Amino acid sequence: MKKTTGMDRTVTSTWRPATQAVRGGTWRSEHGETSEALFLTSGYTYDDAATVAARFAGEDPGMTYSRLQNPTVAMLEERIALMEGAEACRTQASGMAAMTAALLCQLSAGDHCVAARAAFGSCRWLVDHLLPRFGIETTVIDSADDAAWEAAIRPNTRVFFFESPANPTLDIVDIARVCAIAKAHGIISVVDNAFCSPVLQRPMEFGADVVAYSATKLMDGQGRVLAGAVCGTQEFIDEKLLPFQRNTGPNLAPFNAWVVLKGLETLSLRAHRQSENALKLGHFMETRVPTMLHPGLASHPRHELAMRQMDACGPIFSFVVDGGRSQAHAILDALRLIDISNNIGDTRSLMCHPASSTHAAMGEQARDEMGVSEGMLRINVGLEDVDDLIEDMDQALAAAGL
Ligand SMILES: *Cc1c(COP(=O)(O)O)cnc(C)c1O
Repeated sequence: MKKTTGMDRTVTSTWRPATQAVRGGTWRSEHGETSEALFLTSGYTYDDAATVAARFAGEDPGMTYSRLQNPTVAMLEERIALMEGAEACRTQASGMAAMTAALLCQLSAGDHCVAARAAFGSCRWLVDHLLPRFGIETTVIDSADDAAWEAAIRPNTRVFFFESPANPTLDIVDIARVCAIAKAHGIISVVDNAFCSPVLQRPMEFGADVVAYSATKLMDGQGRVLAGAVCGTQEFIDEKLLPFQRNTGPNLAPFNAWVVLKGLETLSLRAHRQSENALKLGHFMETRVPTMLHPGLASHPRHELAMRQMDACGPIFSFVVDGGRSQAHAILDALRLIDISNNIGDTRSLMCHPASSTHAAMGEQARDEMGVSEGMLRINVGLEDVDDLIEDMDQALAAAGL
């Protein structure tokens, strides 16, 4: 290896984002391979006993065990940190492992967490069920109501947790405003940025402390592997996240890290083209569907804010039909090109009915409260020719009477 402790940040951090996506974090072995090497190894060997002692004492920066360090995983972590503009990043086995680690590494019994009520189903489960089991109080609020964040603060509030745009309601949080409220009260803001990736939105530029990812979504972007990541200051990663992660082990496998490294090389191209397709499809559907939840359309209540925070509208939007579950299911069943699938961020266009899939387990009351209605459908717009997508949507809406 030319470098075992990471690239020289004074060189790589001056590269522009497109360069980071292709080269950030790359280490080369003595073979000079062009594509990043895949290190399928759980452990490491040492030249002598003194080196072992030095590594375990933290005096020698070399690797000791793949729950702590792995060269392929480290390349991915360095690349994500550089793309995010974060001091440091650690990857996890899935997006939910990342969210769990980001919250549990810093919260203790007696603390309080304020979270957005509109959230990915499993994120809501963490807030509604997991944290309270360990004595961590939680409050869920309407994240689009800026005053609600401040009103929910208690003396023991330690964390704000939200996603923007939210899954699947596409609620937009005023990231700068909410993070400023957090900062003024010494609260850590944790932002789940899965819908955007660092190519479309960098919450740290708006004051977020911690940015967490499902890298399964846009970062891999081709529907291949589960992966997650948490970005923060070096101090947060070293003092909070690392002790939690190295002792509980939600690590990303080197093979999956390698797949995501390949995904990042084309992330910007994919995210922008998929956003363009999502905007064109959204414009087509506007005249046919009663309610569009699409941050790129002027009809979205926070369209202007969304477009200030995001570089493009992203590939995902939702819409609501008046005929409830039966009409929503009829649209899905009439699709010929777009797949029925609950994944997002994929190069393929995928559509699902959240109330009977991703948000089924949380129950009707929680769905009503966060606005996941029976007539709601969510679509991830892929890289297909947008005219084929429009034609498929056209005939599926018509088949369902729209
Ligand atoms: C998919 C998703 C997650 C969970 O990620 P996994 O990789 O599936 O574990 C978390 N948050 C949001 C917003 C998501 O879309």
